[in-house]
Amino acid sequence: MILTYHKVKPFPGKDPITVGLFSFLCQMLSIRKKNVVHLNNYNPDDENQVVITFDDGYKEIIKYALPVLKYFNYPFEIFLVGNFLEEAEKGNNNYLDKNDLEKIRQNGGRLQYHSKTHPHLETISDSTILEDEIKTPDMLKMLDPEGFTWFAYPFWTYNNDVIAIVRKYYHGARSGNGHANGTVYAMDSKRQ
Ligand SMILES: [Zn+2]
Repeated sequence: MILTYHKVKPFPGKDPITVGLFSFLCQMLSIRKKNVVHLNNYNPDDENQVVITFDDGYKEIIKYALPVLKYFNYPFEIFLVGNFLEEAEKGNNNYLDKNDLEKIRQNGGRLQYHSKTHPHLETISDSTILEDEIKTPDMLKMLDPEGFTWFAYPFWTYNNDVIAIVRKYYHGARSGNGHANGTVYAMDSKRQ
């Protein structure tokens, strides 16, 4: 089972992509008898395995989720959007910056890619633009020599052209929310 998170906050309000800190803690507690693994070691047929993933790279991960993940000593994956990281480096406090990512890496997190601008990839017909959205830039790869081997589709969606490019650069990709296809190039996940 792959779990997909976005933000974790003490008081989530009505934001559909935010999970309350207490709920997150309970969910992490509930999987302590499972085998929590990195995507590289994941076998979707093994019902005892869990992968914890976070999409988009929001700042809340380091503030609230990381202490909990550290406590349980769970490995996890962060799917980064190239432009969001660029924004963070310019001072936008909504997203994780490079210092945050290094801290995440030192505490069991692995960095993966979630596109350059977070578009609906299946709507892009120009193959150069599509490749530019999907391929991890070399500058980013340097941030995690063990990472960037997995892709997560923005909005879960893809088409055959998207998969063809993903196959060139990644071991596989995460989809979910009704869009998975049962292969390693569109793995299922549960949105939390
Ligand atoms: Zn996303």
